[in-house]
Amino acid sequence: MKITIVSPDLYTYGAMVIGGVVRDAGFDATLTKNPDDAAETDADVILLSLYSTLHLLDERIRNFVSSSAARGDRLIYAGGPISAYPDIVLGELDVDAVIVGEGEESTVELLNNGVSEDIAGIAFRNDGEIILTEPKPAKIERPMPLIPDDIGGQSIRGANTYIETHRGCIGACGFCQVPKFFGTKIRSREIEDIIAEIEEFKRCGVRRIAISGGTSSLYQYGKSGSVNTGAFIELLQAIAGVMGPRNVSVPDVRVDYVNEEVLHAIHDFTMGWVYYGIESGSDSMLKTMRKGVDSEANVYAIELAQQCGVKVGGSFIVGYPAETTSDYEATKGLIEETFLDDVFVSIAEPIPGTHLSELVLKTDDSENPTFIAHAGEYKALKLTESEARCFDLTLHAQMCKAVPSILTDQLYQAVLSDARQQGGDVRSVTRLLQTYRG
Ligand code: SF4
Repeated sequence: MKITIVSPDLYTYGAMVIGGVVRDAGFDATLTKNPDDAAETDADVILLSLYSTLHLLDERIRNFVSSSAARGDRLIYAGGPISAYPDIVLGELDVDAVIVGEGEESTVELLNNGVSEDIAGIAFRNDGEIILTEPKPAKIERPMPLIPDDIGGQSIRGANTYIETHRGCIGACGFCQVPKFFGTKIRSREIEDIIAEIEEFKRCGVRRIAISGGTSSLYQYGKSGSVNTGAFIELLQAIAGVMGPRNVSVPDVRVDYVNEEVLHAIHDFTMGWVYYGIESGSDSMLKTMRKGVDSEANVYAIELAQQCGVKVGGSFIVGYPAETTSDYEATKGLIEETFLDDVFVSIAEPIPGTHLSELVLKTDDSENPTFIAHAGEYKALKLTESEARCFDLTLHAQMCKAVPSILTDQLYQAVLSDARQQGGDVRSVTRLLQTYRG
């Protein structure tokens, strides 16, 4: 049986892992980034691997699913992070089933047996009703991913690919779906399996690799009850041994799960950057976001990294419901004080099923910064309050970085366009959520 996996626009690690599992189960599996290519293939089954709520609203994907060329006699199953809200997926896309949660085992069962209530972790329509079977965690050991020939040409924040060293996160951030999707217990892969996989990625053309997993330093966390510094250092050292330290990065580390040894290892065995989810300079907002840390902890971790010679990227979220002007000013203040090396600003996106999505649904549009028209300094630009904060904070951060950027017209326009794009996307996701509110 021929299976085509569609991972829109980029080869996600999850899609490659599912491809490897399907291939090893005896199916003829291929992976593409382009839904139009999939429509042309003679595949018996299409697996849509969707990682953004916006995919549900993407005309290319909607047309692909509904077009007769794509349907024919084929079955179409959807999986990936969007499977955390299967009712919305089934409401928006005419797929035969949704593979819910970690799909390694349920995908193979579905391909072998077709839709059935006996398969754990799927959702499908039956006589107008949605049937959902309880997902269960997949085994952390799995075959080599299905790695496409052109993987070396891909760039995700500078890396050709992300790889997974563990699953789960002990955090409970209200805007994030990782703990719900992968659980709050850390399940770590064996270092030999990780290294064999990295060697295979390198053989297939990958030159730069990033370690994902929510919070990189939680590798082997479960075995010690705290950051397993030794295991993390051994992991980085082994990965650097294959790729070379300057070709390894560790995006996204929680500020409360670093220490000097971890940071020295990041300095010695990676490209020397750490990325913290700082989110806000306001303790009140951090509490609303359920970050589990305060501003003091954020500043401490930034300074500790700087003392260890590690460059610090910080990500921030603006436009959370209830974010006041003084909360926002506190974030600007933190950026002024900390001399970050890079800053990423996002408008709060209510991923369905998260605490943030509940807050957004309880907030009237007239009080939601995603919809309120900005009436301040940037009024002439006709932005929403969220867009204005995203625009303003990004420009502010460019001036406050350790090495400030020169504000050219090109940079100004790029930042403005990004803020508008993010604002439009978050409004679309919010409207989708409102359509499906219970
Ligand atoms: S620490 Fe990161 S992965 Fe964990 S819940 Fe928070 S945002 Fe998500």
